[in-house]
Amino acid sequence: MAGQARGNVTVDVEECKGCGLCVESCPPKCLELLPELNAYGAHPAHYTGHDCSGCGICFYCCPEPGAITVYRLKTKTKAPAPALAQEAGGDHAAAL
Ligand code: SF4
Ligand code: SF4
Repeated sequence: MAGQARGNVTVDVEECKGCGLCVESCPPKCLELLPELNAYGAHPAHYTGHDCSGCGICFYCCPEPGAITVYRLKTKTKAPAPALAQEAGGDHAAAL
């Protein structure tokens, strides 16, 4: 499913046990299992690099604490006034 990415995901390949729950649960299907094996002999999950919405479903279904981290992109907001304007958009918000 194509769309503008609103999130980003990183996977610690040595913490991932390759269960595939995140891959199956991701609505836009932007996660996959790598063909390579990690130190535990598992195929770790990998973000394809596009279409993440930042929904966090993969984070909540992952059984391995620390294996997957989700970042939400800051949404662009209208600048209230020049004196109070803050830079917005493009940076990563706090991780889940
Ligand atoms: S945060 Fe949501 S859209 Fe992004 S990889 Fe995880 S499940 Fe998929
Ligand atoms: S749910 Fe967690 S342990 Fe399972 S494949 Fe995804 S990142 Fe790896």
